[in-house]
Amino acid sequence: MNTATIAATAAPASLPAAPAAVPITVARGDGIGPEIMDAVLRILSAASARLAPEEIEIGEKVYRAGRTSGIGAEAWDSLRRTRVLLKAPITTPVGSGYKSLNVTLRKTLGLYANVRPCVSHAPFVPSLFTGLDVVVVRENEEDTYAGIEHRQTNEVYQCLKLITRPGCERIARYAFAYARRHGRRKITCMVKDNIMKLTDGLFRKVFLETAAAYPEIQTEVMIVDIGAALLATEPHRFDVVLAPNLYGDILSDIVAQCAGSIGLAGSANIGDAGAMFEAVHGSAPDIAGRGLANPSGLLEAAGLMLVHVGQADVANRIRNAWLRTLEDGVATADIFRDSSRQRRATTAQFADAVIARLGQEPRHLPKAMAQSAAGTVDKPVVAAALTPTPASRPEKILEGSDLFVHWDEPGRSAGQLAQRVRAALPASLQLKMITNRGVMVWPEGHPETFCTDHWRCRVMAAAGHVITAHEIPVAMTALTQTGLDVIKTENLYRFNGQPGYSLGQGE
Ligand code: NAD
Repeated sequence: MNTATIAATAAPASLPAAPAAVPITVARGDGIGPEIMDAVLRILSAASARLAPEEIEIGEKVYRAGRTSGIGAEAWDSLRRTRVLLKAPITTPVGSGYKSLNVTLRKTLGLYANVRPCVSHAPFVPSLFTGLDVVVVRENEEDTYAGIEHRQTNEVYQCLKLITRPGCERIARYAFAYARRHGRRKITCMVKDNIMKLTDGLFRKVFLETAAAYPEIQTEVMIVDIGAALLATEPHRFDVVLAPNLYGDILSDIVAQCAGSIGLAGSANIGDAGAMFEAVHGSAPDIAGRGLANPSGLLEAAGLMLVHVGQADVANRIRNAWLRTLEDGVATADIFRDSSRQRRATTAQFADAVIARLGQEPRHLPKAMAQSAAGTVDKPVVAAALTPTPASRPEKILEGSDLFVHWDEPGRSAGQLAQRVRAALPASLQLKMITNRGVMVWPEGHPETFCTDHWRCRVMAAAGHVITAHEIPVAMTALTQTGLDVIKTENLYRFNGQPGYSLGQGE
């Protein structure tokens, strides 16, 4: 491990001691990673960032050495010590058996908030819009990214979408605290709760509940499809956009691309116990080692890191010098367009140009403002009482179960399946409906409906019967004994009188 201190000079005896250098972990990554990290560390040093970097090895070399996670014990030790990672992109080896290092880092360190500010720098960087300034705050741990997937039948695969109340509370509080701290005026929450009423509905509900504590911040909720279309065509309508994991992933790329280039964007991954900062782009092996890479995405990420560790003054100094560099037409190959206005620079020359402009400000582009008061640490607001206390636990009553059946007999019809299920069930349980891919096919249905080999049989307590948990496996066994392949069950509960399940088709 290589440890060096950036700009932690000893103060003369007569002056107050300089603030201690903040330990950070640095990973140079793969492909263009080492060259852009080198450029960024040089700029940080020249700007007198008070940092003490520890270097770790993660990524391709570690994967190739046989660690399928791409990260070793020594790297974890450093991360536990510093809780702050500045990470260059890494190459994920192709082939099964390798785990995504990013997902491992996010989940292990509990980095639940992904923050991606997107700003256009037109006309100095070609952009679809001038004056675009949108921050996407994306939930980072839940949703379909829990990665819980199963093949259930010959024809059907599933991915579980998990949205939790503590997860929604954490990200909503983070988004509002971020907006307040950074002087943002509005948060737009994007969901698809016209279809996913329980999961996306919870995300919306918690967003609106949380808003009550931030009356100065405007709120709006949009369905994500029209929201994405408006973001791509009228981004000036937006300020902060908050979304669950999958939509946030897509929306943040849309906005970054509208701003100019994904290559210029940085992102922060924030948790209560740590944070990771990285460029949005990958390791670009096609241009590695040739001095062609633009270090701006990683530099933007380093700026977010400086704000996080309470050095917004340094972040602003660097950002202003960088904006001035763009205005002066210094351009790496990816943003070089016009030789009459621009001067082509290698990665290292671009870094030199930023360093030479430290202390200067942009003349045309909006200059960097104190994103967070210097000395204030840009930490998440730890949500109090995230787990419901026993007193607030809702009344939970079992009403039945959805039994999912793999059934592919030739000439099959929903009516035949219903007959078999009804014959197998005890009198205390009733078959209420059968759906195929969520569409009701029994007792009502349409002959046109395409049916696959995956059937949901909704079984509820018969009138006057109070169902108990042990009756569900009994029903499952009864169906199995008739030769039906029950692949999973989902219990149906009422919570404080409200159904905790979708009611059927057409919702
Ligand atoms: P990529 O972002 O690496 O490259 C896409 C294109 O953009 C390439 O033409 C590349 O030359 C160019 N480009 C990217 N960054 C640039 C920069 N800073 N300056 C100039 N040009 C730049 O995406 P990819 O090719 O799909 O992925 C390459 C590797 O990166 C893969 O192994 C992938 O898994 C990995 N990756 C890592 C991360 C990460 O570590 N966070 C993120 C995305 C992809």
